[in-house]
Amino acid sequence: MGVSGLNLFGALAGVLLFSWNTSEALAFSAVVPGPIPIDGSSWPDRFPAKSHCSKCGLCETTFVTQVNDACAFLGDGMARIDSMEGRVHGRGRALDDMAWTDASGTAPVPTADEARFGVLAQPMVLARGVGIQGAQWTGCVTSIALSMLESGMVDAVVCIASKENKDGFSSWSEPEPILARTTEEVLRGRGVKPALAPSLKVLDKIRDDKSIRNLLFCGVGCAVQAFRAVQDSLDLENVYVLGTNCVDNSPTPQAARDFLTKGVQVDETKARGYEFMQDFKVHVKMEDDYVKKPYFCLPGNVADAAIADSCLACFDYTNSLADVVIGYMGAPLDSSGKMDDTFQTLSVRNSRGRKMVEAGMDAGRLRIGEEATGSGSHEKISTATVASDSIVQAMLGGEIKEKGMPRFLGEVMAVVMRNVGPKGIGFARYSIDYHILRNYLH
Ligand code: FAD
Ligand code: SF4
Ligand code: SF4
Repeated sequence: MGVSGLNLFGALAGVLLFSWNTSEALAFSAVVPGPIPIDGSSWPDRFPAKSHCSKCGLCETTFVTQVNDACAFLGDGMARIDSMEGRVHGRGRALDDMAWTDASGTAPVPTADEARFGVLAQPMVLARGVGIQGAQWTGCVTSIALSMLESGMVDAVVCIASKENKDGFSSWSEPEPILARTTEEVLRGRGVKPALAPSLKVLDKIRDDKSIRNLLFCGVGCAVQAFRAVQDSLDLENVYVLGTNCVDNSPTPQAARDFLTKGVQVDETKARGYEFMQDFKVHVKMEDDYVKKPYFCLPGNVADAAIADSCLACFDYTNSLADVVIGYMGAPLDSSGKMDDTFQTLSVRNSRGRKMVEAGMDAGRLRIGEEATGSGSHEKISTATVASDSIVQAMLGGEIKEKGMPRFLGEVMAVVMRNVGPKGIGFARYSIDYHILRNYLH
């Protein structure tokens, strides 16, 4: 019998056990195996969502029996967010300001905020973590997580650490989900590991550890959707979810490292993190340097292998079901133009989210700035990007340019785009719209 056959058998056993009385069930469970998690090494072929599986971790636990309802890529998939938002935040998105242009048909108006950014209990603000070294940006996520753990608001934090090999050496790019119980463990979550990460792999551990009554789950949209679907089965008193924006993740750490070597052409062994920024450049934090390369100089053929199929089918860039969301695309780049110094954005979706942010501020670990604002038109540039995009070209059977623009021209183009293109919230709108359109085509 294949793995999926065993899982069906496990699910059936679960249903039977549920309808019996306890002593019969215990006697039966001694001889019948429970649900069988799928072995991660068989990803993606053995996983129910196949090539569109984002390896969220659910299927690597006994919660695999709930995959049909929980998976962001099966059945109604991410369309379920529409109804889940009401349950999680107390209301769905306000869509009455959904409009593309003003009456003249040209000037963009700052509308459709909840359609793009999700339910907002208050306007999106700028924020910085305080005193966190070695984070991806200024460490807003780690600041909030640490404050919640250290103040006793939660007993444990689910986050993605860098995987350690047996010599204790950890690779910045290899994600490992952990159930952090100490300050040191939460600090292991600092930095984005640029590949699909099985955040829900610790679900069985959480359910079986009765000392965990209050939990903080940190994760990206697809993982948060699956987590929200099963969180009631964990029998916890309080559950908080701290999300990050997320788009275009790599299928594996190796694919991310290849992107750095072949695309950005840096020594990936010295890299510590990278981001796609609103100055139209990829920024790479190196051990001893900080490299910026215009998007336009990247070879057209690197994008395909660097982006997981799940992320081409993803419509939850802004992590709709988290209580608080941290990102960067709506924040201005400051004069240094480097990610460690620049404000991030913070969205609060509900009253739990407010308490999470207060915990960070009370601990002096989180500083809130002004409301996030921006400028520039996002509409034409979104459609123009889709039209020239190498991934879209590949879908249409068009020619993919193997070489990017020469460096000088790419730099000029980035300066021009930076000056005329959208900034702050305007850039965030552009990025969201481009990804929705591209992924819809996929
Ligand atoms: P830190 O304090 O350094 O904490 C990092 C957090 O990220 C930890 O909680 C850790 O658990 C989590 N994490 C690390 N690796 C992964 C992973 N592979 N999967 C899930 N969680 C992980 N923001 C945007 O505005 N636009 C984007 O396009 C965008 N893309 C992203 C893509 C990915 C794969 C991820 C994980 C995040 C992305 N973000 C994006 C969010 C942004 O990069 C930062 O994560 C965010 O601003 C938090 O920075 P920080 O300094 O507060 O995080
Ligand atoms: Fe399972 Fe998650 Fe993959 Fe869906 S995305 S098939 S729930 S591991
Ligand atoms: Fe998941 Fe979407 Fe991020 Fe891909 S882009 S890892 S599918 S949230």
